[in-house]
Amino acid sequence: MDETEALRDIYPLWIQRIPLSLAKGAGIREDLKAQLEQFFSLLVESIDTGDPGWLDPILEAWTSSLTVTELESGQSSILPFIRELMLQTDQVCHDQLDTGQAARLVSALLPAFAHAFEKIAFFESQARVNYVSEQLKQAQSTLERLDQSKSNFIAVAAHELRTPLTLVEGYSAMLRELREPTQPGEYEIDLMNGIDNGTRRLKAIIEDMIDVSLIDNNLMQLNFQPVWINRLLQILKNELEEFTKERGQKLTIHEFPGCSEMTYADPERLLQVLRNVLTNAIKYTPDHGAISVNWRRLPGFVEIVVRDSGIGINPQDQSVIFEKFTRLGNVALHSSGKTKFKGGGPGLGLHIAKGIIEAHGGAIWAESPGYDEVNNPGSTFHILLPLISEHPESRVARLLPNLSDPITEE
Ligand code: ADP
Repeated sequence: MDETEALRDIYPLWIQRIPLSLAKGAGIREDLKAQLEQFFSLLVESIDTGDPGWLDPILEAWTSSLTVTELESGQSSILPFIRELMLQTDQVCHDQLDTGQAARLVSALLPAFAHAFEKIAFFESQARVNYVSEQLKQAQSTLERLDQSKSNFIAVAAHELRTPLTLVEGYSAMLRELREPTQPGEYEIDLMNGIDNGTRRLKAIIEDMIDVSLIDNNLMQLNFQPVWINRLLQILKNELEEFTKERGQKLTIHEFPGCSEMTYADPERLLQVLRNVLTNAIKYTPDHGAISVNWRRLPGFVEIVVRDSGIGINPQDQSVIFEKFTRLGNVALHSSGKTKFKGGGPGLGLHIAKGIIEAHGGAIWAESPGYDEVNNPGSTFHILLPLISEHPESRVARLLPNLSDPITEE
């Protein structure tokens, strides 16, 4: 008797015994019986042809029935099932056949079961990888949706806040005009100055929010003009002098050969970037500290390096600070002063700076040995800006000279 015949001999006992030992409930048993019948016929085919690959479809179908809990726990329920199937089959062979036939059939079945173990392990790990990547995809799309609704919220909130703020500004100006001829007392002037300061600060925050929504939606438009970076830095040095003096800090702007070179860029936006970075340097450096601006010319680029002797930034936070609404440390302790020591803002300045610099085709990053409020290791911000000698629009026009010509048929 060959192995296929021996298999057919053991089938009645096999199909009667195995569902009983592998399934507890009668309903499940019926279902399992149908599955086992299919498994057995594929087992016969694989012994007949010597190709255990015949078992693959049913093994794959079993693996695809893994539950989410099984996929998440990483525990296999199919491998113990196959092991039990193999042990029961071995038992049936010995109960049904004589010792020699049983030994021959069991050794003929071994490669098929070995193949089943291997395939189940493969299909299971594939099912797990698919499950995890599906979960990741879902998490990513949830994050993208959240980010989009955050962006939408910022845009809507900024526009909605701007209208009432303009009203407050208008009424405050009218009040000032009304009171001025009668020479108000100092107390009233203080109150009106307070309103003006508050509205100015609120306006700056709203403008930052609008910039963030422009950057996040790729809508930031640059107004390219000839720019001399050393002049921008000089403007800022004068603008910030009041604050550096107040804090007893020394702000030094170094010159370098070629620093007066002209480049095409958006001067207002570049001023905004440099102002944000320099204001941070003032804010996160203790009184009497030093801030310096160095630069160097690289092929096609200028690198502006702003170094401070402040509290520093931990390496793991050095990229996070460029994300919107990032404020390191204890947020509750932050004061709202613009240049006060550690007086935090809404955490938008560096995100906007990054958006503007990237829109210019440049890069911005931070370096620091770490955060230490006792030893003040300092931080260094690098701004890499492309040097453009020709207006971007005229360069495009030159590269595509016939763009505006009417299309003529040959
Ligand atoms: P903020 O309005 O809070 O200053 P920014 O986007 O400008 O927001 O900066 C984000 C965070 O990065 C700040 O809250 C601060 O924790 C950290 N940071 C920025 N610049 C410096 C610096 N020069 N030294 C130390 N920390 C800094």
